[in-house]
Amino acid sequence: MVKKVLKFGGTSVGTVERIQHVANIIKKEISLGNKVIAIVSAMAGKTNDLIKLSCEISNEFNKREFDVLLSSGEQVTCALLSGALIKLNMKAKSWLNWQIPILTSGEHSNARIINMHVEKINKYLNDGGVPIIPGFQGISKNGDITTIGRGGSDATAVAVAKIFNADTCEIYTDVDGVYSTDPNKIPVAKKIDKISYDEMLELSSLGAKVMQSSAVQTAMMYDISLEVRSTFTERKGTKIFSQENIDYSKSVTGVAYSKDDAKITLTGVQDKPGVAANIFEPLSKAQINVDMVIQNISSDQKTTDITFTVKRDEVFKTEQILKDNKNIKYKKIIQNNKVAKVSIVGAGMVSTPGITYRMFRALSDEKINILAISTSEIKLSVIIEEENVLKAIKKLHTIFDLD
Ligand code: ASP
Ligand code: MG
Repeated sequence: MVKKVLKFGGTSVGTVERIQHVANIIKKEISLGNKVIAIVSAMAGKTNDLIKLSCEISNEFNKREFDVLLSSGEQVTCALLSGALIKLNMKAKSWLNWQIPILTSGEHSNARIINMHVEKINKYLNDGGVPIIPGFQGISKNGDITTIGRGGSDATAVAVAKIFNADTCEIYTDVDGVYSTDPNKIPVAKKIDKISYDEMLELSSLGAKVMQSSAVQTAMMYDISLEVRSTFTERKGTKIFSQENIDYSKSVTGVAYSKDDAKITLTGVQDKPGVAANIFEPLSKAQINVDMVIQNISSDQKTTDITFTVKRDEVFKTEQILKDNKNIKYKKIIQNNKVAKVSIVGAGMVSTPGITYRMFRALSDEKINILAISTSEIKLSVIIEEENVLKAIKKLHTIFDLD
């Protein structure tokens, strides 16, 4: 007997028929002798609809009531799924956030699960029942309803798997796993069978659509193995666990990209201690996330150029802050907001020499100019002109044997 946490996302429970289908998936697990705790999201689009309703009243809708409102989407799914299981002659029961209770700390709309009471639910599980728990919510220490951030049902699933000591945590969604690159762009992309938490996080431009990154981080922290799989096919999904459990036959696991980057260069900045700190401190205060940073070696020992990347929608704000910054001197600001980041990711890269060179050679064969480079142990990223992205991922996918 295996104790499983099964989480069903919004599209998986988007209609009554789909909820009935989910009930059948659970029924099958029970007939195999497994114990199941189900976590559900709101029906697809529901949370957005609820937000719209609150905006019709006020754009500064009361925070406490906002969480009461938003949490209701999951309540609906809990009841419908429970009802569908009961209709199949199964023993099932929904539990709302305050009935369990799921205890959270932190602010409304952005709370964090800290604990849950397990006795009642464990007893119900041991009696052969299927508890259905709403994702994305809890209560504060004052007993107010809280929500834990958009996409938070994944985090609920991971927390439940941890607190109930489940054997597996399966994330049912509308894709059948994590791919070696975007399958919509590159048809030869392959589904990855096994991936480490780190790789999953680094591939977040592909993986984020699949699972909330912070939930993957929590799973990594507690070493909870995950499986992402499709509600609509029986195919195996992608297993996500710690690196030791993976035997790397390939050095590169996937090719990721993001197209919303911008590059800023400051030329002629003084080459002395404190300059970089003076540049980046005001950016960080303004909550601007700086990604890659490159500083050239100064040829005259006096001045140098600093290049960095930010998200495209923050480039004007960044420029303004630099221009208003009295603490730095520079010659010019050069900006390019038509750039993209392409990364190869793989835990197997550590042990394979020559990956860097092969990536650069491949891009040069395609006549793609590299504008900036950054590396970590399991990732190698380059900034290139946005128009070259597709060509670059195609080529890299091929030369690293991922097709
Ligand atoms: N229903 C919530 C949202 O749409 C939580 C979730 O689906 O994970 O953000
Ligand atoms: Mg979701």
